[in-house]
Amino acid sequence: MTGKLFLVATPIGNLEDITFRAINILKEVDIIAAEDTRHTLKLLNYYEISKPLISYHRHNEEVKSDILIDKLLEGKNIAVVSDAGTPGISDPGEEVVKEAIKNNIEVIPIPGACALVNALIASGLNTKEFLFLGFLPLNKKNRDNALDKIKKAKSTVILYEAPHKLIKTLQDLLKNIGDINCVLAREITKIHEEFIRGNISNLLEQIQEPKGEYVILLDLNNLENENEDEISQKTVEEQYKIYEAQGMNKKDIIKQIAKNKNVPKNEIYKLFI
Ligand code: SAM
Repeated sequence: MTGKLFLVATPIGNLEDITFRAINILKEVDIIAAEDTRHTLKLLNYYEISKPLISYHRHNEEVKSDILIDKLLEGKNIAVVSDAGTPGISDPGEEVVKEAIKNNIEVIPIPGACALVNALIASGLNTKEFLFLGFLPLNKKNRDNALDKIKKAKSTVILYEAPHKLIKTLQDLLKNIGDINCVLAREITKIHEEFIRGNISNLLEQIQEPKGEYVILLDLNNLENENEDEISQKTVEEQYKIYEAQGMNKKDIIKQIAKNKNVPKNEIYKLFI
């Protein structure tokens, strides 16, 4: 009989954020495939679990998937865990799941912590509709495509980011999307957990040296809700801010405000020089 593949969510900070079922599965499986075996050992030691470990990370995912599949076909039950949170979410897992399905191996998720879900539910932003893009790509073309996708979104957008890249990413978002409302969920479940809220420019002023782990949540929900009629009732300065936050350039903003106010473009232009 073939074995089963369990995808076991582990804590994202607080070691107590793991389910009874997850602990039992980790105790019962034959092998634990871990992103970083030393990291996972700390969790296993905390719960007094002793199991053979295989390393399974981003750089060996394909090769190691074959090894895991062979062992599953031999009848071994395997649990895949990542360093933190839910395997497969910006973490290894996807490859072995695809291979397991091809080989008719049962895949069983064991739910638990996931940074994006916990950041979202406490953010105060729209939770009904959201777009999760993981880490923004570093390659310029792919990054521009992702920024374009964000610009077109009409929901909450969720990103992961490493602390040393946070400022650059916020600057890119400000430049490409505008000064929109944003939430930074920092160090969720840890001692220094905090939710920092404000416009992107606000947040850039507040955090000069990012420390710890961050989820970025962008509020792209209501930008289009204010229709042109409502916007045109506002002052020229207020209108300017709204259109700027929607990512419009200065020339188009002036054109739009002039249209709303039913005055020549030059009149509005003069106000901004
Ligand atoms: N698989 C994980 C999950 O389920 O959320 C995500 C792993 S991904 C490699 C790591 C990123 O998740 C971090 O750079 C950060 O953006 C986010 N993250 C993980 N733990 C976090 C925490 N405790 N607080 C805030 N963000 C966290």
